[in-house]
Amino acid sequence: MVLNSTTLKECLSNASRIKVDESLGPKTTLRVGGHADLFLQPASRDDLIAALRWSRMHGVPVTMLGRGSNLLILDGGIRGLVISLSDRFFSRIEVQDERLTCGAGARLKQLAETSRMAGLSGLEFLEGIPGCVGGALHMNAGAMQQWTFDRVEKITTMDREGDLHVWKGSEVEVHYRSCPLLREHIAIEAVFLGTQSNPSVIRKTMDNYSRRRRLSQPVASSAGCMFKNPDHISAGKLIDELGLKGTRVGEAMISELHGNFIVNLGGAVAADVVSLIKLVQERVMSAHQIELEVEVQVVGE
Ligand SMILES: Cc1cc2nc3c(=O)[nH]c(=O)nc-3n(C[C@H](O)[C@H](O)[C@H](O)COP(=O)(O)OP(=O)(O)OC[C@H]3O[C@@H](n4cnc5c(N)ncnc54)[C@H](O)[C@@H]3O)c2cc1C
Repeated sequence: MVLNSTTLKECLSNASRIKVDESLGPKTTLRVGGHADLFLQPASRDDLIAALRWSRMHGVPVTMLGRGSNLLILDGGIRGLVISLSDRFFSRIEVQDERLTCGAGARLKQLAETSRMAGLSGLEFLEGIPGCVGGALHMNAGAMQQWTFDRVEKITTMDREGDLHVWKGSEVEVHYRSCPLLREHIAIEAVFLGTQSNPSVIRKTMDNYSRRRRLSQPVASSAGCMFKNPDHISAGKLIDELGLKGTRVGEAMISELHGNFIVNLGGAVAADVVSLIKLVQERVMSAHQIELEVEVQVVGE
């Protein structure tokens, strides 16, 4: 698709950044994938609204990018407009009493740390998840038997026409690693509810969680767990029991440390990762008649 960025630029303030043919691999933790036709970091809600209206008017597809820690972007890249809410405007965190109001671009680590400093517990589990609030809401990210939406009091979303909506967290339909609303809407802001506690107790919990991660997860580039856990068994255990740890396709390898992580040894391309995913799915299907579902969001062409 040949896109004219000039007409988009004309709709936006100078503070918003637009790039043409932007490489996306370095913007993901797996570090594979092609280019975006257009990449935008809006600097205000008005600019985001203008970009969404421009994309509708010109029939340009829009893809949201968070911290890219749960994405497998294919080698052909993403057609249309990729939007990142990483500008400061969308990354604020404000604390009032037991509530933390966070922009969708705020990092989860920052949210967990701010919550600790304010003496609010309940968000410690977010400390080691390398995403931002928008991505965590979309995925209903979870760890240590806790889920993002457990602590969401309210979220503000924007639909593809640029209109804002506010939802009570308890009213939003969520599942294991999914929030159907956010496949259509864009998360703009969320209010998280903490529980008053002692910052040093919170620190201990966070340290404990991060120690557990260090022992069980590889440090090499990855997108976290590649597959959703089927009912009653972990995908990592299934993969491990089939002796697949260490299996390679090109520069993509099933981690020796954690069977559910596919790591990039340095020069992997998305096609390597896709082949490895298929290999694992076929082996698990033929051994156990279980269809492993990919957790990581595969986007692009
Ligand atoms: C080392 C490692 C450890 C991990 N550990 C965990 C873990 O313990 N638990 C867990 O659940 N996950 C884990 N993950 C996966 C990942 O970090 C989480 O799913 C995280 O929430 C994704 O956030 P992100 O900002 O990176 O989103 P991205 O990967 O950028 O995007 C994920 C999805 O969210 C959408 N999206 C992004 N922003 C918005 C928005 N503003 N509005 C609507 N949709 C949006 C994207 O389009 C995409 O579909 C891990 C990943 C790594 C690399």
